[in-house]
Amino acid sequence: MPGQFDKQKLYEEFAELVSIDSPSFGERAMADRLISKLTAMGFRVTEDNAGELIGGTAGNIYAFLKGNDSSKPAVLFSSHLDTVSPAVGKKALLHPDGKITSAGDTVLGADDAAGLVEILAGIRAALSSGEPRGDIELLIPAAEEVYTRGSKEFDFSRIKATAAFVLDMSGEVGSAAVQAPSLISFSAEVTGRAAHSGFAPEKGINALAAAAAAIAETPQGRLDENTTFNIGTLTGGEASNIVPEKCCLTGEARGFDHEAAVGAVKAFEALLREKAAGSGASVRFRSEAALRAYSISESDETVIRFQDSAKRIGITGALVSTHGGSDNHNIVLHGISGIVLSCGMFNVHSLAEYTTLEELAKGAALVREIILDRGGI
Ligand SMILES: [Zn+2]
Repeated sequence: MPGQFDKQKLYEEFAELVSIDSPSFGERAMADRLISKLTAMGFRVTEDNAGELIGGTAGNIYAFLKGNDSSKPAVLFSSHLDTVSPAVGKKALLHPDGKITSAGDTVLGADDAAGLVEILAGIRAALSSGEPRGDIELLIPAAEEVYTRGSKEFDFSRIKATAAFVLDMSGEVGSAAVQAPSLISFSAEVTGRAAHSGFAPEKGINALAAAAAAIAETPQGRLDENTTFNIGTLTGGEASNIVPEKCCLTGEARGFDHEAAVGAVKAFEALLREKAAGSGASVRFRSEAALRAYSISESDETVIRFQDSAKRIGITGALVSTHGGSDNHNIVLHGISGIVLSCGMFNVHSLAEYTTLEELAKGAALVREIILDRGGI
């Protein structure tokens, strides 16, 4: 059934969206193009003021299309507006085997144009089938790639659907993430005292040494099967002949168990304070739960709707967990049962990113089936 989609048209729409520069916080042109496409499809489209709140050029787009059968449940689809860098001047090159790559000097932006194209094509197919369907809602957030900044500002009370499908995971179409971790990001500034390292070293308090001692004693990497921890940056010092007065570090913990991830960060903070205090340095520590872990039950109606729809187009419908963040974190946080679908993008966040016509067609077919919701076979 994915074969029913005109691959030339899928490629053209994909190439069109890819050609629009849409870096995080600079999504205006992409937002305008999608608003006009969705309006032409009959959606009532609005954009919120998230752009102003987060310092971007576009807000979150919300679109609604009334169903033709009130006994059918509403459904929410989501893909994001922005792409990671290098994001300017992107081109989608179609190769003879159906693979689509960038020109090699930018990302392709299949993350998340693949999701957008599959949603648009899948909706058009569902509408033209004339079959009964419920309301369709779309949430297309800005700045997803920056800790889901856009969707954090969205007013979720506007959503009517209880089931959400977020097309924003790499891999072949046919998997859904039902579990994702908390992400606790943190930064610390250690302040000691500067002194000339040759003339008066004993007057100095070495901020870098205090931080390094704490980092060296902190377990990092995979702490257990649920939790990872990383110190990602450490910068500081002025010159080779000055005892370093200040240093800054940043890091993150991820975990399917929210409290365990928070605990790992708290343990590091305590150790850093202890090491700093030992040498007379002080610490300013900041941490934030950028994302909160969620887990959707395998018997949830959203999961069943996904698996039934996958079966109808002859794909497996595997359930997985992801270590990545997505707008689905914010969707689930607001009581909507959301899962993240793989949408046929590969090597994302790199110059080697690609998708294929076959995957775009499969993703579109899956969206169509989810909308029509014809039950199990
Ligand atoms: Zn993405």
